[in-house]
Amino acid sequence: MKINLRTEALEDLVARVLTTNGMSGENARIVAAVVAGAERDGARSHGLFRIPGYIGTLRSGWVNGISVPKVTDTAPGVVTTDADNGYSQIALAASRPLLLEKLKRNGIALLAIRNSHHFAALWPDVEPFAAAGLLALSFVNTRSRVAPWGATKPLLGTNPMAFACPRRNAPPMVWDQASSVTAMGEVMLAAQDGHAVAKDVGIDAEGRSTTDPKAIMAGGALLPFGGHKGSAIAAMVEILAAALTAGRFGFEDRSAQIFGAESSNAGQSIILLDPSVTAGAAFPARVDELFSRLMSVGVSRLPGDQRYAARRRSERDGVFIESKIYDYLRSLLPPSDPERSHAP
Ligand code: NDP
Repeated sequence: MKINLRTEALEDLVARVLTTNGMSGENARIVAAVVAGAERDGARSHGLFRIPGYIGTLRSGWVNGISVPKVTDTAPGVVTTDADNGYSQIALAASRPLLLEKLKRNGIALLAIRNSHHFAALWPDVEPFAAAGLLALSFVNTRSRVAPWGATKPLLGTNPMAFACPRRNAPPMVWDQASSVTAMGEVMLAAQDGHAVAKDVGIDAEGRSTTDPKAIMAGGALLPFGGHKGSAIAAMVEILAAALTAGRFGFEDRSAQIFGAESSNAGQSIILLDPSVTAGAAFPARVDELFSRLMSVGVSRLPGDQRYAARRRSERDGVFIESKIYDYLRSLLPPSDPERSHAP
């Protein structure tokens, strides 16, 4: 059985769940928007599926739910933010006004976030900038889960990266992907649903290729996408997200040793570019010309299109969630919360 909720109601429910479990109201609202947005956009591996991980990490004390980020004006085009061991999206929200001020002045701006946790998809971090006409890139590092090319033990993180680009009369083109063949969330979902994964996704604890998601999770490793090329990109993300921000590398993170902790203390960088400075007002039209050429040679869709389609469906019909997940969320509310005892 499924329950149907409007995105706003889901966001509100998730925010109450997070505040009940150790987050400040303001921080909970920021993270809840990201979780509910992923569920709305059909990005299941980073939606409600992550709630037990958020709760476990909050309850373990490994992440700071009441973080107050420290934003520093470091250089004419650079903002550095210490996330106070809290979620990165909260640090981004606190840094945004100064970052945009620098972007306006310089046409380019860098945000370097350290001492942060990121347990979500990256597109919510970049899409709003592109919707405002900017190019945005972001890089995040995570705990060691990926065996570098030629190795059999994990060292690099799944290290996601995202790129968002404004268009003329359409939502931004946004790609958002792990440096591994697939995100660990997809492997966890496969294990939960009893499915095998594709044969190039990971290796077991002995370094042998496996399609068993549980063997990958139990001491094995994910593989980088694109062989040695993806391995180099994963290392680049580690440098841009951790070394550049003065944050921790994935192999320095201790989250795997903390019972219940699932997000890593790591870093994130965001680079903003104003294309009108270099390319003038023609930029969105030039981009659309490229996209229509791509379509003309047989490309059926752009990155992000599947998510936008899911978003349109959710905006029209509401978000459908399994009733057992809804019951689980309600069980995390305080007894005084009316939604705990009254289902819709
Ligand atoms: P996918 O391989 O599912 O998708 C990567 C990108 O490719 C998406 O932008 C997707 O767009 C696009 N895409 C997929 N298929 C096609 C196609 N046929 N044609 C054109 N574009 C396509 O993502 P991953 O498994 O690599 O990552 C999933 C999520 O996990 C990401 O959101 C990532 O940020 C997140 N992640 C987060 C981590 C963290 O620590 N916070 C760590 C690792 C990953 P569309 O969405 O429209 O399908």
